[in-house]
Amino acid sequence: MPGKLLIVDNIATNRIVLKAKLSDVYYDVQQAANTDEALKRLHDTPTDLVLVNGHLEDRDSIQFCKDIRTNPRTSHLPILMLCNHQDRDTRLRALAAGVSDILVRPIDHVVLLARLRSLLRTHESAEEHHQRQKTTRAFGFAENQAGFKKQARIHLATPDSASSVRWSAVLKGMVPFKLVPKVHTETLKDISGAPAPDVFVIAVDSAQPDQALRLVAEIRARASTRNAGILVVVEDDHRRTIVDAMDLGAHDVMAFGFDPHEMALRVSRLVSQKRLSDRLRDHVNIGLEAAVTDPLTGLFNRRYALPQINRICLQSKSKRQQFAIILADLDHFKLVNDRYGHAAGDAVLTETACRLRDSLRALDLVARIGGEEFLIALPHTPALRADEAAARLCARIRDTPFRIPGQNTSVQITISLGVVMAGSGFKAKSVEALIEQADKALYDAKLRGRDQVRFAKIPA
Ligand code: GH3
Ligand code: MG
Ligand code: MG
Repeated sequence: MPGKLLIVDNIATNRIVLKAKLSDVYYDVQQAANTDEALKRLHDTPTDLVLVNGHLEDRDSIQFCKDIRTNPRTSHLPILMLCNHQDRDTRLRALAAGVSDILVRPIDHVVLLARLRSLLRTHESAEEHHQRQKTTRAFGFAENQAGFKKQARIHLATPDSASSVRWSAVLKGMVPFKLVPKVHTETLKDISGAPAPDVFVIAVDSAQPDQALRLVAEIRARASTRNAGILVVVEDDHRRTIVDAMDLGAHDVMAFGFDPHEMALRVSRLVSQKRLSDRLRDHVNIGLEAAVTDPLTGLFNRRYALPQINRICLQSKSKRQQFAIILADLDHFKLVNDRYGHAAGDAVLTETACRLRDSLRALDLVARIGGEEFLIALPHTPALRADEAAARLCARIRDTPFRIPGQNTSVQITISLGVVMAGSGFKAKSVEALIEQADKALYDAKLRGRDQVRFAKIPA
């Protein structure tokens, strides 16, 4: 189901016609005949977007939209207003009240559907962030309270430089943002280096709309700019361009050319949306990082490593590949703590983590699963290569003494490794059973004098 929509309209035929059209394209459509019923539905049923008639009989529709916006439960819902006619004043009042956009009857359904897709896409990612945030909170991580102190940057891209400079001068006193006027051709160059702006405003040249549309596609495609808001400015309500812009990923479209007040309202909303999603994204990243890594060394922890190795195991089966699991344990590590102190021990652990990580491929997984014990998985690796990798790790620890911070001395450390092979050609075993075998091999390495690699004895 692409989304749950609520139609708020006193006129039954309006609701029925709209519902039929939207149900045809598989939206889950609810209706409310008045604003009380609408508020009740919003309270009781999860909703993704509200379609409101601009002329409600029981209430001022703009005031009703404002109420939706100010209620914390519904404040992030996109609202689309459908009017019989629209004048600039109503449009500005509606936008100021938090309405996402206004469409005029008779409704052009191609435009309506493109607008719904665009609004729901934005809403979906906000909703997804909310859900993930809930999950990380359930793990007990504190919320990231990073503030919004940095001034937002708005990139104004027009076909000619005079327009963007003029827009920037007019908008300057109306929004608290840093405005960067550019021509289209410079925009692509600009986004290759410097940090991305928060919002791009892109004017369409009616004579050649493709230039602006290509820019939208490019901004959405590049990792550095993917999360920026995009407002496209179309001169003459040109339907094809509006639909294309939204389907290429624009978050908002101004259909009637440059209007400083309207642009200030729309850009401000895009900045708030961007900040919200940045905040949630940062929170998710920080929360998830804390959930999967070991704070001392930055390596993955056991909780993360085990399901990942399970995945490697399944993948090797379907791709008929071999993989290796290594358990590594520092030798006589207790002596380091006893001789140089716990802080020195910590420094050795951190340095060990760096050396292990640096000596392996990016796709190999390294986790710290105990005090001085490391679990390593080498996907898509035959025994010969696993042996080479393990021997390399052993040498990397042995060959360069570890500096003890603040004590002007170095200490030679060694490590023992137990390796088990699995995947194609080996008997299927659970990850736990494989780790147990690696552990036996590690014990064998310790018994035989440490500082060496031993393979688990399993029949091929
Ligand atoms: P073996 O060669 O048999 O592995 O000997 P070992 O001394 O390395 O092994 P043992 O298990 O006897 O001691 C491990 C030591 O690791 C004991 C503990 O104090 C220390 N250790 C565990 N976690 C940490 C940590 O986070 N920081 C520091 N500094 N030491 C730790
Ligand atoms: Mg040890
Ligand atoms: Mg140990």
